Amino acid sequence: MTLSALKPWEFSSPQGKANYRRARRLYPGQAVIDLKSMRDNMRTLVDVVGGSNGGTAVMGIVKADGYGHGLVPSALAALAGGATWLGTAQPREALQLRMAGIGSDRCHILTWMYNSGEALLPELIASDIDVSVGSLAGIDALAKAARKVGRPARVHVNVDTGLGRNGFTERGFQVVLDRLVPLVHEELFEIVGLWSHLSAAESPDVLEFVELTDRQIALFNDFTRRMEKAGISPQLRHIANTAATFSRPEARFDLVRPGIGLYGYEADPAMGTPEQFGLKPAMTLQAQISTVKDVVEGQGISYGSTYVTNSDTSTVIIPLGYADGIHRAASGFDDSGSEHTTKIGGPVRVMTKDGPRVMHVSGRVCMDQFVLDLGAPAVELGVSEGDTVELFGPGRGEEFDEPTADDWARCAGTISDEIFACLTSRIPRLYLNAAEVLSPRDVSKLHRRQIL
Ligand SMILES: *Cc1c(COP(=O)(O)O)cnc(C)c1O
Repeated sequence: MTLSALKPWEFSSPQGKANYRRARRLYPGQAVIDLKSMRDNMRTLVDVVGGSNGGTAVMGIVKADGYGHGLVPSALAALAGGATWLGTAQPREALQLRMAGIGSDRCHILTWMYNSGEALLPELIASDIDVSVGSLAGIDALAKAARKVGRPARVHVNVDTGLGRNGFTERGFQVVLDRLVPLVHEELFEIVGLWSHLSAAESPDVLEFVELTDRQIALFNDFTRRMEKAGISPQLRHIANTAATFSRPEARFDLVRPGIGLYGYEADPAMGTPEQFGLKPAMTLQAQISTVKDVVEGQGISYGSTYVTNSDTSTVIIPLGYADGIHRAASGFDDSGSEHTTKIGGPVRVMTKDGPRVMHVSGRVCMDQFVLDLGAPAVELGVSEGDTVELFGPGRGEEFDEPTADDWARCAGTISDEIFACLTSRIPRLYLNAAEVLSPRDVSKLHRRQIL
């Protein structure tokens, strides 16, 4: 008898059960996302800044398709947890939120990544979406759009306090103020926000980075004074990401912008585990084993033979590859392979007769698949074709032996954000606890097939 690698998911509706069955028949890998975890993570973040009446509002960052968790479901879970703002880098995603029925009566939305020559600025203004400006061309284009639409643009002035990325610099700021003031008087611009982004808040134990954050906050205060002096005080100031929301109370100002925390991860494993921050990873990535076969000792595995079996063993095919967003950098080499180096591959939790075991990607990750060396004959382990394995999940308990996206990030030399943001659209996203977390109206906003 073969045991399944996971306890069966608990469906909240017959529709959910049907969706899940269908998703498995359509595709051999699934991302199962717990909306309750996301809602609770947002509640934690709202509590950290003093609760819903604490004077500091929370913007759930749902850019990049909700860090791969799904744009609209992530947005709805964030709102259910007490966020009153949503943020997406790309204007298209901001418009998609409004088109999904998340109206301006419900939350503000901020967007910031565009080129002013072509972006849908009039549509953004007409849809009540707040727009960031970080270039003079952007200011001019947004003013033109406001004139065209016939109402003021809700503007957030983006300043570079040290990240060296977006936003106006100190030196050019007088020109910016001179350009903004008449637009405010003309009522083409409503200056809603002044904002910036931190460079290294996820390293609160590294003195150099603490000092960098200190300098960024001080400079942010300078920018504020300059705007006040010009007579265009911003209504709100915001600079904090997840890391600063937790670790730098003085960076919270009027609004914080957590992203990774909503999905249940701390910004950097060096800060601690998600649990220590009251967070729970929301996504589980699982797959069903394609084929199982016995191979002899000394068999090179996958392209370039970077991994060679060191005993008679069985291998299984996991039908997810880099075209699904499984990082090729998470390939596993052993020193008997031609790379002459040992590198542990991404972890996969496989259920055996004797309980769960974490195995590792053996050889190179391919476009649609990778191989696992089971280290023993599959019949002995009780592993067979069609069994569900788990690449990562919430990291439940020691004895459960469950890898997390942080473990994959370590193997691929990246951060958890990239592990889920890179998962491509061909992996079905399925949602747990929709009916428990969302109102019936919000449930109807989700694609019917996505609901568990
Ligand atoms: C992504 C992003 C955030 C959220 O950062 P996290 O570290 O994921 O909390 C906040 N602000 C801006 C401008 C961002 O691009």
